[in-house]
Amino acid sequence: MSKVLIIGAGGVGSVVARKCAQVPEVFKEITLASRTLSKCEAIARELPRPIRTARVDADNVPETVALMRAVRPGLVINVALPYQDLHIMDACLEAGVHYLDTANYEPPDEAKFEYKWQWAYHERFADAGLMALLGSGFDPGVTSVFCTYIRKHYLDTVETIDIIDCNAGNHGQPFATNFNPEINIREVSARGRYYRNGKWIETEPLARKRKFTMPEGLGTLNVYLMYHEELESLVRHMPGLRQARFWMSFSDNYLTHLNVLKNVGMTRIDPVAFQGRQIVPLQFLKALLPDPASLGPLTKGKTCIGCQVTGMRDGKPKTVYIYNICDHEACYREVRSQAVSYTTGVPAMIGAKMILTGKWKGSGVFNMEQFDPDPFMDALNRHGLPWRVIEEAVFKA
Ligand code: NDP
Repeated sequence: MSKVLIIGAGGVGSVVARKCAQVPEVFKEITLASRTLSKCEAIARELPRPIRTARVDADNVPETVALMRAVRPGLVINVALPYQDLHIMDACLEAGVHYLDTANYEPPDEAKFEYKWQWAYHERFADAGLMALLGSGFDPGVTSVFCTYIRKHYLDTVETIDIIDCNAGNHGQPFATNFNPEINIREVSARGRYYRNGKWIETEPLARKRKFTMPEGLGTLNVYLMYHEELESLVRHMPGLRQARFWMSFSDNYLTHLNVLKNVGMTRIDPVAFQGRQIVPLQFLKALLPDPASLGPLTKGKTCIGCQVTGMRDGKPKTVYIYNICDHEACYREVRSQAVSYTTGVPAMIGAKMILTGKWKGSGVFNMEQFDPDPFMDALNRHGLPWRVIEEAVFKA
């Protein structure tokens, strides 16, 4: 019997709870815990089967350990914020519970995400006979599984990877982010970075722009080169990789707003004195922006996230593109969330299913590309994120 503890009752946590509830043969008992109990209760009320709820401050390790000891889950799905990752990993080690997340650790006072902090837990998880699966969302997450799948079935060697994340949806708001605004804006305002011939090359934020024509007639969007965390783990785990880049689409409207906010200092993450107290401008901005969960009923259109991978097959160069298209309105009909929360929450549930059913096993800290992609790829088709492969180049950069 598998019990799961989900921590974080935001946009993604809501999808994870709903998708786990759809798979009772794996997730026999579900507990949803977050800093605000009422958010867990609101989600629980809408589910077709009963789940437990709890209040927890996941930055408080003893409190989180106590919750884990009371619930006795087989696995914790961490869909709180990246700031909580290390605290929840500490609690998992103390309580003896497997761990999964969708975003790597970031120190709150520095917009810098890298795996070194979480990879440093490898020995402790291995010694405890526990597994930590990092980055089981879409990107990171499915994108790494896509690349591993292409390497396994379509290419003999992988030389370059371009991950292209497009959102052709529209929520009709002047400015909003599709997931936690603070995390989103920190990520988008960071300097660009990509890997080439053994070196990391930095660019100014969003300085490199290309046009990408999505498949299935979804249209053409501007995509911008950014740094994204799966590049680091793919470079480490895919020997022979010569180049790895990540591109994301942004509308001109989004970028104009972001530039103004940046120019006036609203995206700063250092505390500023205001009326006798210290405030962090980006946290204040988050309080003003629409809650991503509120965008669900408003968002129309589709997302298209995929990877173009090149390499050699039978001694000849070959290019393969693999992608998923997800419809915001269909997601809302199914789980009351837009596609960005959906495309993150479904792979988190599938990663949990891989661990709890023993399809993916190991002691230590792992990234997605370290496991056999096949059972995960089958589960994507079964649980709402079908994918397709095109055996030719679709993106020129
Ligand atoms: P939200 O802000 O909507 O939700 C975060 C939730 O975490 C909130 O319910 C919040 O509680 C809770 N939380 C925050 N701090 C604590 C704490 N100390 N203890 C307990 N609960 C806490 O974010 P999203 O749902 O949009 O994103 C969730 C995660 O998913 C993020 O880490 C994000 O980076 C990641 N993500 C990953 C993607 C991928 O493809 N891999 C894509 C999109 C997101 P409260 O509301 O009470 O403050």
